[in-house]
Amino acid sequence: MYNISTSEKLHNEALKTFVKGVGSNERASVAPHPIYMTHGKGSHLWDVDGNEYIDYQMGYGALIQGHCPENVVKAIKEQVEKGSLFGTPHELEIKATQKICEIVPSVETVRFLNTGTEAVQGALRTARAYTGKKKVIKFEGHYHGWVDQIHISHIPGSVDMLGSYDNPNKILHSAGQTECGFDDIIILPWNDLDVLEKTIKKHKDEIAAVITEPILFNCSIMMPQKGYLEGLRKLTEENDIVLIFDEVQTGFRVSLKGAQGYFGVYPDITVMAKGIANGYPVSCYGGKKEILEGAQDKGLAHAGTYNSNPLVMAAICANLEDLSRDNGAVYEKMSKNGMKLRKGLTEIYKKAGWPARDAGPETVFSVMLYEGDEIRGLRDYYKCNLDTLDKLRTALRKEGIYTRPALRDIWYICTAHTEEDIDKTLEIAEQVVPLIETVKS
Ligand code: PMP
Repeated sequence: MYNISTSEKLHNEALKTFVKGVGSNERASVAPHPIYMTHGKGSHLWDVDGNEYIDYQMGYGALIQGHCPENVVKAIKEQVEKGSLFGTPHELEIKATQKICEIVPSVETVRFLNTGTEAVQGALRTARAYTGKKKVIKFEGHYHGWVDQIHISHIPGSVDMLGSYDNPNKILHSAGQTECGFDDIIILPWNDLDVLEKTIKKHKDEIAAVITEPILFNCSIMMPQKGYLEGLRKLTEENDIVLIFDEVQTGFRVSLKGAQGYFGVYPDITVMAKGIANGYPVSCYGGKKEILEGAQDKGLAHAGTYNSNPLVMAAICANLEDLSRDNGAVYEKMSKNGMKLRKGLTEIYKKAGWPARDAGPETVFSVMLYEGDEIRGLRDYYKCNLDTLDKLRTALRKEGIYTRPALRDIWYICTAHTEEDIDKTLEIAEQVVPLIETVKS
């Protein structure tokens, strides 16, 4: 019998002093209440009631090596004795930047921050400072953090809100958010080079940057269509527009070299976070020296008390050392486990009569319930049956499988997942799925 009574008690306690009882809104979406974890090791998590889970949320994808990988923990422990914040340069910064530039093909130089949101801000400001232009093209359904100027047209409440396909509405996401970014942002549908080309032609001299998730993670996973990223690269290059890949999700995950290495398409600026330090709070933007230093020369301001502190730099060095060992051999293991789970789940869903469609690279995937044709972007996301998957996630949790709750279907594989984990997950899914009544969303 699945008992989460201690979690319930803690949640009630938290509600007294912690806004809505959670540190980030998405965490409140776990039904009937959030589960309080005590510790994690490798691919497993344990909660306060003693329940053990195979974890596929993996800290929103940040834990590329799973919980507490030995070398990262050791590096942090050693550094914490020496100091966690100097507010001065130190050698680990150089080591971390060297390692990133060695691994990520298009990155020649780097600046660090703390979250993906901040690194996006750094990248956008850099592109604007360097080009002297203001407008940025952002795609519907893509998420680049929660600041007012860019948290626009992510997943609005209904497809009707999006407006016309060629010239979509700009939609705010939050109470308290203002339209301050509207003048300088152009929203477009993703995966459509024609619309992009027409827009670039029209606004060429005003557009500083195009920002994209190279694989769309924030509407469940959607892949770029064949030739799309190549076309995007060509159009931006021909029109003196800075191409920014937001690799917060894809960096060090879809391959050692991120999505740019996976597809062989190289942006001018790359934003990275999550997988870079296996869960320690650090992000960066990096790219062409000419652009990053050129922006500085033109007066770009960039600051931050905790930037490149020695603790997170130690985590980056140890984590990237692990990931790059033997030419990134761990990615093969992750891919094999990811594909086995993904194909297995798809088959189980289909056997239950569900319209299952799997998507993603090998090390992370979605299995959506969708009966339409192609899945190209946000407008197709509304045709997916999300409520049934929500019920499934709750049922799986009771059987010891923890997946990312709400909004998106994403299964993150880490280097610590074993074949035994995958087999057990499929066994449980085989029992649970036929018991779920589909709900029409
Ligand atoms: N960009 C992308 C693509 C993301 O998925 C996220 C967060 N999931 C962010 C930026 C923002 O990162 P953070 O939550 O670290 O601010």
